[in-house]
Amino acid sequence: MAVTSPVNESAVTEFQERFRGTLLRPDDEGYDEARTIWNAMIDREPALIAQCAGVADVIASVTFARENDLLLSVKAGGHNVAGNAICDGGLVIDLSPMRSVRINPGAKTVRVEPGVTLGELDHETQAFGLATPAGIVSTTGVAGLTLGGGWGWLSRTYGLTIDNLRSADVVTADGELLHASDKEHEDLFWGIRGGGGNFGIATSFEFDAHEVGPEVLGGMIVHSFDDAADVLRFHREFTAGAPDDLCCYAAILTAPPAPFLPVEIHETTVVALVLCYSGRIEEGEEVIQPLREFGEPIVDLVEPLPFTAMQQMFDEELGPGYRNYWKTQLIEPLPDEAIDIVVKRAGTLPSPETQIVLEHIGGEIARVDPAATAYRHRNVPFSFNILPRWTDPEDDDAIISWAQEFLKEVAQYATPGVAPNFLSLEGDERVKAAYGANYDRLVELKNKYDPENLFRMNQNIKPSV
Ligand SMILES: Cc1cc2nc3c(=O)[nH]c(=O)nc-3n(C[C@H](O)[C@H](O)[C@H](O)COP(=O)(O)OP(=O)(O)OC[C@H]3O[C@@H](n4cnc5c(N)ncnc54)[C@H](O)[C@@H]3O)c2cc1C
Repeated sequence: MAVTSPVNESAVTEFQERFRGTLLRPDDEGYDEARTIWNAMIDREPALIAQCAGVADVIASVTFARENDLLLSVKAGGHNVAGNAICDGGLVIDLSPMRSVRINPGAKTVRVEPGVTLGELDHETQAFGLATPAGIVSTTGVAGLTLGGGWGWLSRTYGLTIDNLRSADVVTADGELLHASDKEHEDLFWGIRGGGGNFGIATSFEFDAHEVGPEVLGGMIVHSFDDAADVLRFHREFTAGAPDDLCCYAAILTAPPAPFLPVEIHETTVVALVLCYSGRIEEGEEVIQPLREFGEPIVDLVEPLPFTAMQQMFDEELGPGYRNYWKTQLIEPLPDEAIDIVVKRAGTLPSPETQIVLEHIGGEIARVDPAATAYRHRNVPFSFNILPRWTDPEDDDAIISWAQEFLKEVAQYATPGVAPNFLSLEGDERVKAAYGANYDRLVELKNKYDPENLFRMNQNIKPSV
């Protein structure tokens, strides 16, 4: 492999001696695996991958990158669609080996290291009947998801993942380890709750956990695409009055040839209401009855199931190995004419794996002051996500344009905001759109904690100094 080290050998040897984890170079076994992330479009070749065993390794890596003027990127779960976890020619600080989860069932708190995935967090918390709200695919990293805000099936009841963050340890650009909470380094604590990896590397997160499960009411109700406009209108009306414990997404997708789906809809476009009711099951049955009764569902797959199964329901559908490009926007309920646009565009999905998903947010998320954390756009009911997935690089341009054109048409009905976690590589204006009125304060914070912009492989907030 033609990657040459941009630093001299003796500096690397010295770094190696201070490092407890594994340092990978292009010819080492494990290098290709370590540079492979969820989005198969990302094929970058770092000079070094520092697989950290602990905080000391993170500090040594940050110091090494800074002193040698190396481009630095940070990888946790490796799921971010923008692919900022991996850099070309620089140093990847790989946190994936740092995977401990320490639960305190009495205090209902859980402390996790930054390599932990959502599935691992659920596994440990559910052993005690607890859960922290996070995303809907269990292989996603807790670290990246949290730093960008984080929402999932439980967020309408318990808020964003960051609303449940009690504290975090952060290694700053000058290699200092700071404990950030609402009592210490409050400004940093404000910034990492939504501001991504702009201010340092989080090496530990402490969350609140809540009593959830072990079973929830969840699954999907599938309708023919012929009824898509009616289903989306019904979804709009129904979710407007839904209790917090109900989270109901609407998705347009190609039905997979799965045994739980009738053969006649295999590989056809369908519209599905995908839901999770996390309160008492009997209560949930009453709440969702109108969803079961609406229209003529092809199949109703909603049933009581373990919360951990709900959390893994889309792991396969949204697994790694595909090319991905996302366009998303936060939206108010769409007027009828916008729903018609969505249905028209979604009628010709560019690949069988592509999905259009209307994610249901609001509830407790919206009750937090938008200035209380870096994450800004709280008072919106939905995120409209265009999620193309495909395999052939030759299709890149056509599919990316399709997604861009699609969003452009819907954006006239949308809010200006977007959630940081769902941004592809889209430039400074979109980063500003993600933070809205919180952006200037984030720049001030960047000036204080990372004026040289060492941490720039992210949705970058550029320092102004
Ligand atoms: C299939 C799939 C499903 C998803 N579902 C949801 C969902 O339901 N809800 C939701 O909110 N989001 C969801 N997301 C988006 C997800 O939250 C973001 O992509 C998030 O960045 C992934 O975090 P990661 O640790 O896996 O990714 P990585 O790619 O490893 O990290 C992303 C970026 O975060 C920064 N970073 C990561 N760890 C640290 C750290 N410890 N310190 C400092 N900076 C760090 C780095 O800049 C890095 O480039 C989903 C993504 C995918 C691919």
